[in-house]
Amino acid sequence: MKKVLKYKGIEFDDYVIDEYGMWSTICEICQGRYYNRILKDCKLQDEGIGYCGIKGCTNSSEAKVGIGVNYINFDINEVEITEADAK
Ligand SMILES: [Zn+2]
Repeated sequence: MKKVLKYKGIEFDDYVIDEYGMWSTICEICQGRYYNRILKDCKLQDEGIGYCGIKGCTNSSEAKVGIGVNYINFDINEVEITEADAK
């Protein structure tokens, strides 16, 4: 069972840890909601597919205009893996 990842006070239940670091994808709505905290960590990339990694959100993370996916690259110094299991 995957643990919830907490980043700048925001909980993610879906994320990836690989050779590129720690990252997830995020929908436009959540990006707008947490804009002030995560803007500099977000990047629109023109390939990929995914669903929002924010806990409880199942929106697609593809950009509205259909030109890419909103990625969030976590600054590992700010990441906290909690004890709670993601659903
Ligand atoms: Zn979302």
